[in-house]
Amino acid sequence: MTEPTLFELSSPGRRGVRFPEPDVPKSPLPEGLVRKDLPLPELAEVDVVRHFVRLSQKNYAVDYGLYPLGSCTMKYNPKINEDMARLPGFALAHPLQPIDTVQGSLALMYELQELLKEITGMGAVSLQPAAGAHGELTGVLIIRAYHKSRGDTKRTKILIPDSAHGTNPASSAMSGYEVVQLPSDKRGNVDLEALKAACDDTVAGLMLTNPNTLGLFEENVLEVTRIVHEAGGLVYGDGANLNALLGIARPGDMGFDILHLNLHKTFSTPHGGGGPGSGPVAVTEALAEFLPGPIVTILEEGTDEVPPLYGFKMPSRSIGRVKAFHGHFGMMVRAYTYIMMHGAEGLRKVAEHAVLNANYLLARLRHVYKVPYDRICKHEFVAEGVWDDAPDIHALDIAKRLIDYDFHPPTNYFPLIVREALMIEPTETESKQTLDKFADALIKIAEEAHTQPELLKSAPHNTPVGRLDEVKAAKELVLCCWFPEKETQPS
Ligand SMILES: *Cc1c(COP(=O)(O)O)cnc(C)c1O
Repeated sequence: MTEPTLFELSSPGRRGVRFPEPDVPKSPLPEGLVRKDLPLPELAEVDVVRHFVRLSQKNYAVDYGLYPLGSCTMKYNPKINEDMARLPGFALAHPLQPIDTVQGSLALMYELQELLKEITGMGAVSLQPAAGAHGELTGVLIIRAYHKSRGDTKRTKILIPDSAHGTNPASSAMSGYEVVQLPSDKRGNVDLEALKAACDDTVAGLMLTNPNTLGLFEENVLEVTRIVHEAGGLVYGDGANLNALLGIARPGDMGFDILHLNLHKTFSTPHGGGGPGSGPVAVTEALAEFLPGPIVTILEEGTDEVPPLYGFKMPSRSIGRVKAFHGHFGMMVRAYTYIMMHGAEGLRKVAEHAVLNANYLLARLRHVYKVPYDRICKHEFVAEGVWDDAPDIHALDIAKRLIDYDFHPPTNYFPLIVREALMIEPTETESKQTLDKFADALIKIAEEAHTQPELLKSAPHNTPVGRLDEVKAAKELVLCCWFPEKETQPS
């Protein structure tokens, strides 16, 4: 079935809004500004609302159901975050306003920097980067600037474990470094012998994720960071997903020199189709002067009667700006609200529940789905979506069949070191009842894979469109469904 488009709904003369007669003289729009060849649909407000509500209901969202997309942390986004981000003083502020008119916004940014320092155990923070991958690029540029500042020009390599997120090698390569891949050992840790063998005076640094993308805590993290430091390198931490650590362990205590955080994962700001990201970068005090700027700082200390005066400063050896103005401020308001609403105790509970939920699912599923690195996990775990006695079934078929059970599929085919990977991250915001329904569905699907494999092969069955060619769907994106010149609709 094809949906009617706005153009098909259009009826000449129908209107959504009717403006009052102007009480000032009319003046024509400048010549050339108005396109005569631009056909616009003519609809009533109700037609437009219904069209878009219908479209939105074809989508799956974290506000609709469980979204166990590993390495993405699709936790529930509390609505109070949205209320705070929409406060007019925040929402209407302009980045070019004089600083004495935006002291509240600057105070929030300053306090968020301080909170992130405390949570991570790092020495200084820049809120500028716009996403996780952007934070990585920023961090690797800081590694480069650090070595350059010491006249150490031999270092051309960045070490990255084979379990890493794809953005890690991409950020290193974009910064001009050669990427050297490190193998994982049988327990899913960095292979220490391989690390020692790779460390020499050409290594600029190591990018490490802890917990790693298998959802496992790097058991030798102190040894790993020590080895890299002894070779003169820096250790970069990919802190996109810090759910499991909040209030329990701090990257700053593990030997990380630089770390990025994804406010849009760990700190519940919406992402993907729901909003922009924010990827602050935290560094040790020794690297603070390399951070991108300007950074919010206290220009004049306050007293009991007078609040401090906040303003900006550029770090003395800054790598420069990485983003226009000061980053995605609305995300900062949401993350700040989330942290303040939870408090220190609450953040620790977030971590405990994230880990408990993942381990509960793991315990329910490990007898049905093979888990190659099977030990206590942190916020997520990775299972194989394949069985030797059901050779035609792949992770993709399981993922598509889950849609029939009304669940968003987990991440699949990543990390690359697990065959037919299904990477499951339930997050702390799900109840035991939801987790049980999800586990029941996956167990049922495993049974179907052996008894009725065609059910999986032809899934999903209840969605507006069936199984798509995923490569084409991504490369030949159709973002609108109106084709004014064409009679036919995209299938
Ligand atoms: C999501 C993620 C990233 C990238 O973050 P973006 O905001 O999508 O750029 C990097 N590393 C890990 C481990 C991630 O999960």
